[in-house]
Amino acid sequence: MAVETAARQPLLLTRIADAREWVSRERRAGCRIGLVPTMGALHAGHGSLAARARSECDRVVATVFVNPTQFAPHEDFQRYPRTLAADLTLLGGIGVDMVFAPDAGEMYRGGATHAGTGAGASGVAATSVIPSTVAATLEGECRPGHFAGVATVVLKLFHIVPADVAYFGAKDYQQTLVLRRMVEDLDVPIRIEVCPTIRESDGLAMSSRNRYLSPEERERALSLSRGLAAAERAFAAGERSAAVLEQLARRELELAGAGPIDYVALADPETLDRPQRAGDRAVLLIAARVGGTRLIDNRMLQ
Ligand code: AMP
Repeated sequence: MAVETAARQPLLLTRIADAREWVSRERRAGCRIGLVPTMGALHAGHGSLAARARSECDRVVATVFVNPTQFAPHEDFQRYPRTLAADLTLLGGIGVDMVFAPDAGEMYRGGATHAGTGAGASGVAATSVIPSTVAATLEGECRPGHFAGVATVVLKLFHIVPADVAYFGAKDYQQTLVLRRMVEDLDVPIRIEVCPTIRESDGLAMSSRNRYLSPEERERALSLSRGLAAAERAFAAGERSAAVLEQLARRELELAGAGPIDYVALADPETLDRPQRAGDRAVLLIAARVGGTRLIDNRMLQ
C-alpha cells in the first residue's frame, strides 16, 4: 500500500532570540544558510526563491513580515493579505527549514510608524538605514521613505538571520540595486542572489497584490507585460531611443486604460540613470495603477 507522506511544515519562530539561536546552532554545525525575506501572501514567485535557496544551501530560512515602515500611511498596509497558514504549507512543500514570522512589536521594540512619517527618512522611530542614491529615483520618488524602510528591515533580518546567501526577485528591480549597495557599503557579509521574475502563463508578473484585481482589472493589468514585450521587440529590432521605447510601452497601458501611470522609464541597469539612447543593456521599468492597485514590472533589454 502506498503511503503518502505529507510535506513537513517548517519550524515557525516568532521571537528574535529564538531565530538567532536556531541560526547560530545550524551555523556552528557547519551549515550554509540561505535566506528568503518576504511579506507573505506567497505565490510561485516567492516559491522560486525558496527553491533556489533549497538547491544551493544546507538550511533555508524564509521570513514573513509585513513591514509597516515601508508603507506610507495611505498605502495598503492594513489590507495587505496575511495568509500565514497557506504560506507555511507552500514553504514546507519546498523543504524550507525555518520560518521567522515576528510581529511588528517584536521587530520594532522602540516603536515604528509608516514610511515618510518618522523622525528619519523611514518610519523607524529609532536608528534607520539611509539608502544610496539609487533609491532616490522611480519608486523612491513615488514612495518617499519606502526604501529606507526596506533597507532597515532587511538589515535587521540580516542581523537576526546571518545567512550566507539572501535571495531576492528581479520583479523588484530597484530594490535589488538598493540592497546590493547596502551590503557593499555597510560591509554586510551576505551574498545577494537575484532570481528571475516568475509570470503567469499570460505574462502577468506574479504579485501578492494581484489578488486585489477584479477579473476586468486583471485583463488591463496584462498591459504592463505587453508594453514591456513591445519595447523588447523594438529593442531587438535595433531601436535605441529611450523616448520611443518608453512610448511603445506607455501606449499599451493607455490602450488598456491602465493608469494613472507613475512611470515608464528606460534606465541604466546599474545606476538607474536615464539615458536618451539605450546602450547594449538597459532596463525598462513600469509602475502604474490598475483600478486601486499599484503594480510594478520591468524587463532587461539586452
Ligand atoms: P514581497 O513578499 O513582495 O516583499 O517579495 C518578497 C521577495 O519575493 C522579493 O525579493 C520579491 O522581489 C520576490 N518576488 C515577488 N514577486 C516575484 C515574482 N513574480 N517572481 C520572482 N520573485 C518575486
